[in-house]
Amino acid sequence: MTTIGFIGLGNMGRPMVANLIKAGHEVRSFDILADARNRAEELGATIAINAAEAVLECDVAITMLPAGQDVRDVYIDHIIDQVRVGTLLIDSSTIDVETAREVIRKADERGLMMIDAPVSGGIGGAEAGSLTFMCGGAKEAFDKAKPILETMGKNIFHAGDSGAGQAVKACNNLMLAIQMISVCEGFSLAKKLDLDVQRLFDIVSTATSQCWSLTSYCPVPGPVSTSPANRDYAAGFTVAMMLKDLKIAQEAAKLSGAHIPLGTLATEIYETFAEDGGDRLDFSAIYRQIGGS
Ligand code: NAD
Repeated sequence: MTTIGFIGLGNMGRPMVANLIKAGHEVRSFDILADARNRAEELGATIAINAAEAVLECDVAITMLPAGQDVRDVYIDHIIDQVRVGTLLIDSSTIDVETAREVIRKADERGLMMIDAPVSGGIGGAEAGSLTFMCGGAKEAFDKAKPILETMGKNIFHAGDSGAGQAVKACNNLMLAIQMISVCEGFSLAKKLDLDVQRLFDIVSTATSQCWSLTSYCPVPGPVSTSPANRDYAAGFTVAMMLKDLKIAQEAAKLSGAHIPLGTLATEIYETFAEDGGDRLDFSAIYRQIGGS
């Protein structure tokens, strides 16, 4: 049994904690929201009065926070100087590469091992314990983290040095955002052509446009019973978070000189939808913007 301090008990953090507890680990947790703390307590996690107390005597500290600024604040104010030397630090939030590297560097200055380990697979993957972890950092730290990550995920990859996990994640979500819009456009055209939604789905899900956005997360109500489209686009993975990830990809492209014209257009489409009030909806609700329902 490992003692794990877990900070950030939201849509993703909560089911990840559930799987850590199921695997027999002791979890001490914290979230700034009382409701999130209460729900983690129901799962069997101990609740700390703040992030520092949650990680104080732990073997491993895991964070699952919204954005880069949250990660920087929590690690600098509550984790790096508070944990005992030997505690392994794992940040699974999706943040920009530069912040990930900066925080890992600060951990290293105190002699702490840390990896960036963002995930893919959504809430369904977190609940099923089938997340994909893409990790950056020293191989020794990755090897130490792997058995813990395996209790929450199915595919655990070492992508390279610190920040490499976040770099892979930025590329993944850039592709995902564009693919989701492409599926929405296909269904939007199909509607105008009077095609039956289910019949279109049955055919194209075995044809060359097959992708996760279509077969696991279909943005149109009906074909995939578990997709947010069937619960009025309740998130899930919000438009606000997708926009955050697209901006991370934009910034990375700017710094590296990569050419991502569809990524730029996808960012504009999601931005307009967010400004029109769609920011808290699941990102597949972009179907409404594209001309669906
Ligand atoms: P969420 O907003 O549901 O949860 C984040 C939690 O962090 C909230 O409960 C919030 O109160 C808490 N928090 C914020 N600041 C804090 C602080 N200073 N101290 C303690 N707790 C704090 O978000 P989520 O959907 O769980 O996503 C978390 C991360 O995972 C994000 O970076 C997101 O991009 C990434 N992600 C999400 C999904 C998804 O499908 N939701 C998929 C892959 C990756």
